[in-house]
Amino acid sequence: MSKRIYVAGGGASGMCAAIYAARNGGDVCIIEKNDCLGKKLSMTGNGRCNLTNLDMRAECYNAASRGRMKDWLGTYGAEDVICFFKSLGVVVKSEDGYIYPISGQARTVVDALENEIKRLGIKVIYKEQLKGIECLDDGSLNVITNRDRYLADKCIIAVGSLSGAKSTMSTGDGYYICKQLGMSIKDTFPALVGFKCTEDEYLPEKGVRCDVNISFILGSEVLASENGELQITSDGISGFPVMQASRDIIRFVEEKKPVCAVIDFFPEYDDADFEALKKDMLRLKDERTVEEFLLGFGNQCVTDMILTRMKLSKTMKMKNISDSMAECMLDSYRSLKLKISESYGYQASQVTTGGVSLVEIGSNFSFNKNRSIYCIGELLDVDGRCGGYNLQWAFTSGSIAGCAASL
Ligand SMILES: Cc1cc2nc3c(=O)[nH]c(=O)nc-3n(C[C@H](O)[C@H](O)[C@H](O)COP(=O)(O)OP(=O)(O)OC[C@H]3O[C@@H](n4cnc5c(N)ncnc54)[C@H](O)[C@@H]3O)c2cc1C
Repeated sequence: MSKRIYVAGGGASGMCAAIYAARNGGDVCIIEKNDCLGKKLSMTGNGRCNLTNLDMRAECYNAASRGRMKDWLGTYGAEDVICFFKSLGVVVKSEDGYIYPISGQARTVVDALENEIKRLGIKVIYKEQLKGIECLDDGSLNVITNRDRYLADKCIIAVGSLSGAKSTMSTGDGYYICKQLGMSIKDTFPALVGFKCTEDEYLPEKGVRCDVNISFILGSEVLASENGELQITSDGISGFPVMQASRDIIRFVEEKKPVCAVIDFFPEYDDADFEALKKDMLRLKDERTVEEFLLGFGNQCVTDMILTRMKLSKTMKMKNISDSMAECMLDSYRSLKLKISESYGYQASQVTTGGVSLVEIGSNFSFNKNRSIYCIGELLDVDGRCGGYNLQWAFTSGSIAGCAASL
């Protein structure tokens, strides 16, 4: 007889688990709190959905998960995600190893998953919220929602995290539910997120985008260092390198430790090249104004930031500025320091770091104390770098748990 499987949460991991469970003969029902499936998935990759990455390695995930990630990715890796979507009729393309649907639309991915859910006859209950699971003496489960109770053989908890816009309903319900079931929860923090700077920092009114190297330091310790396009806004910093580094610095920022960002606007120059460049620039120290002198050295808004913090007027003549001051001005483009105050928070973050401890979870994602309950996706203490790693995790954990639950 086929197993009655309830999947709580119809996001990336839940839809994937439901499909694999039904393909393997399970009688599957999804319980979704929202009025639609895949709300967050439809917003991913700036609306383009970065499904996975061809450079798939355990090192791209948080330290606590790496030991086990190797096996999980070995069971279901990037090629498996690509084949899965091919089986749904979704053709993908690679941009430097970053995999997107060829349509360039995240909606395609959500629609294809929904079509497969319909095709397989998976029931979906919308606007209902998992509240808890009761373990019955005969080994079956009572899946308890805000409206009803459902008798199940297996339940897959795929309710996600605290990250994402309000409309994604990411309210962290899973942490409470799993705690009630006896699982331990690692402290959670927003990750893949930007940061606000302290109020005394002068930041440009209009946003700036530049290719940089950015390091985050705490005293003399370098916490993280990344290259890529930085966005400086009127109150903070974001963009690819900040998001990537955020997973390594968030704990220190939340603990109110004095973390600083050090920005190098000349990431392609080594020290000798930069010294030579400075020497050439200093030859132009003549009648021209500071503004004229720096015109071609960097972005206008970055120059404004540097001059404001050095309390230098744009109209001063360069010949009236000491050599050491002129050198200091140029050096600022190599190591502009900004003090960080806080992150932009869960609603602006792409993932949550922390969650249900992997110590509680078997290799097929079942709970060690009750093998009929499974936890998957972002709810678990697993988070990856920006670049398709988090959806890969949703599909890896979803596929393995879906297959296991149907047995
Ligand atoms: C703006 C943004 C862009 C992103 N871009 C990318 C990207 O391009 N590539 C990438 O790899 N990752 C990306 N991510 C991360 C990725 O979207 C998530 O890691 C992934 O969606 C997690 O899947 P999940 O199924 O665990 O959780 P979710 O997708 O959040 O799904 C959880 C589901 O459970 C439902 N739910 C919640 N509580 C309950 C309850 N009590 N009962 C029933 N249902 C409930 C929710 O409504 C939701 O539908 C992005 C995230 C954001 C916010």
